[in-house]
Amino acid sequence: MTDTVTIFDTTLRDGEQSPGCSMTMPEKLKIAEALVELGVDVIEAGFPIASPGDFEAVRAVAQKFGDRTTICGLARCRREDIERVAEALRGISKPRIHVFLATSPIHREFKLKMAEAEIVKSTVEHVQLARSFCDNVEFSPEDAARTELDFLCEVVEKAISAGATTVNIPDTVGYATPNHYFKVISYLKQQVSNIGQAVISTHCHNDLGLAVANSLAAVEAGARQVECTINGLGERAGNAALEEIVMAIKTRKDFYGVETHINTPRLCGTSRLVSSITGMLVQRNKAIVGQNAFAHEAGIHQHGMLQNRSTYEIMRSEDVGFVGENMVLGKHSGRHAFRARVTELGYTLDDAKLQKVFDDFIALADKKKNVYDADIVALIDKQTIVSVERWKLVQFHIGAGTGTIPTATVELRDDANPEAPVSFRDAAIGDGPVDAVCKAMERIIGVTAELKDYQVRAVSGGEDAQGEASVEIAFAGRRYHGKAVSTDIIEASALAYLKALNKAVSETPKA
Ligand SMILES: [Zn+2]
Repeated sequence: MTDTVTIFDTTLRDGEQSPGCSMTMPEKLKIAEALVELGVDVIEAGFPIASPGDFEAVRAVAQKFGDRTTICGLARCRREDIERVAEALRGISKPRIHVFLATSPIHREFKLKMAEAEIVKSTVEHVQLARSFCDNVEFSPEDAARTELDFLCEVVEKAISAGATTVNIPDTVGYATPNHYFKVISYLKQQVSNIGQAVISTHCHNDLGLAVANSLAAVEAGARQVECTINGLGERAGNAALEEIVMAIKTRKDFYGVETHINTPRLCGTSRLVSSITGMLVQRNKAIVGQNAFAHEAGIHQHGMLQNRSTYEIMRSEDVGFVGENMVLGKHSGRHAFRARVTELGYTLDDAKLQKVFDDFIALADKKKNVYDADIVALIDKQTIVSVERWKLVQFHIGAGTGTIPTATVELRDDANPEAPVSFRDAAIGDGPVDAVCKAMERIIGVTAELKDYQVRAVSGGEDAQGEASVEIAFAGRRYHGKAVSTDIIEASALAYLKALNKAVSETPKA
C-alpha cells in the first residue's frame, strides 16, 4: 500500500491572519465546504480564544463538517485556550486540538521569558490537558527551524510521551532551506526514541520563497503531514501552497512514492473561491492555478504539443480543473447547452441556482457577443458566494467629464428588516465618478471608510469584456474586501465598494 500524506489546510486560520484577508462567518463556511469537497484531511478552522467571532466560526465549521473531515482548533499552552478549543469542537466525531509553544532561544528569551526546563514542563502539562478532551492532539514547537536540534528532540519526545499524536515542526519565520529542513526531520527520526508513535508534520512559511520546497524535503525525509493553504495565503509572504504540494506529490509519484486524498480537479475552483472571498488575486504565472499555467505561446512548443502533449506538458489541465478562455456560448445558446457547460466547468448547482445564473447569463449575452468560460465562472461566483448584504444598490447616476465636477446620485435599499425594506437617496461629489458614487453610498449608510486598494481587470478577452473591480477598505481598525463584476466598470466598482461596506457595518457593533 502506498503511504499517504495528510493534507492539513490552514487557510481559515493562518491564511485568515494575513493582512486584509479576514472573512465573515458565512464566507468561512463556504470555504470549509469547498475544502471538504476538495478532500483535505484536516481543516484548521481558527484560534477560538482570539475572539468571540473566531470561537463562533470554529464552532460553526465543526458543527457543519466535523463528521466528514477532522476539524482542528489552535491553542497556546494555556488552560483557557485549550478549554475554549474543546468547547468549540464539542460533540463532533473528528476533533483535533492543536497546541503550540515556542522553543527557539530567541522566543524563549524575549517572548516567553522561560527557561528550557519550563518549556518542557508546560508542553507536557498542556498536551496532557488537551488529551483529556480529545484523542487527536497535535503539538507544535513554534520556530522549530531556529531551535537547537537536541532541545527540539527533547521537547518532541516529551510531547509524544504526553500524548501528542502529531508533532508539527514549524518553520514559523521562513528561515529554513530544503537541505537544512531535510536534515532536521531526519535527525528527529533518528534521535527521538518514540517518534514512531506520532505523525511528523511540516508548516513552512514562504519568506525566502522556499515553503513548498521545504515541505517536500520534509516529506522526502519522512514527514507524513503537510500544513498548507489555498493559493499559499498566510502571514507575510504566506504558507506553502496546497495546490503546488499536492500536484508535486502527484506528478512526481515516481520519486516521492506517496499519495494524498485530494480530488485534484477541484483545485482551480477552490483557488478561485478563496481569491474571490479574500480579494487576494492570484498572479497570472502562479504554478498550477495561475491564468497562464497551461498557456503555450512559443511556436516550437505548440508544434511539439500537437505531436504529443507530453513533449511540453507534465500535467493535464483537466487534472487541476483549469478553465481556459475558450469562446463558448452566445445569446442563442439554450439552457441545455448552458447547463452542460456549467457541469464541464466542475460546478454542481441546484435547479434554483442554475436558473438564477442562467438569467444572468442571458442578460450578459445581451450586452456582449461572446460569453467566455471565465465569464460564466464569474456569474456562478456571484450567485454562490454568500455575502452579508444589508444594503443593496438600487440605482445610481453620474455626471462626469472634463471641466465638470464629478457628481453621483445614488439610491440604496436598507434590508435591515427584510419585511420592510426602506430606500434612501443621496448625492455627493468626488475626485472622479467612482469616488463620487462611493462617497454618496457612505453618506447614506452614515460611515466613512478609507480606500486602501482598488483594482480593475478584464475577466475575459475582447473589447466587450466584463470588468472585475476589487477594493480593500479600512474601517474601525480592520480591513475588508469587496469584489464585483459588471460590463460597466463604474457599476462593478460601486458594487465592490458596497460589498466591503456591508461587511464592515455587519461586524461593527451598533453604537
Ligand atoms: Zn504559520
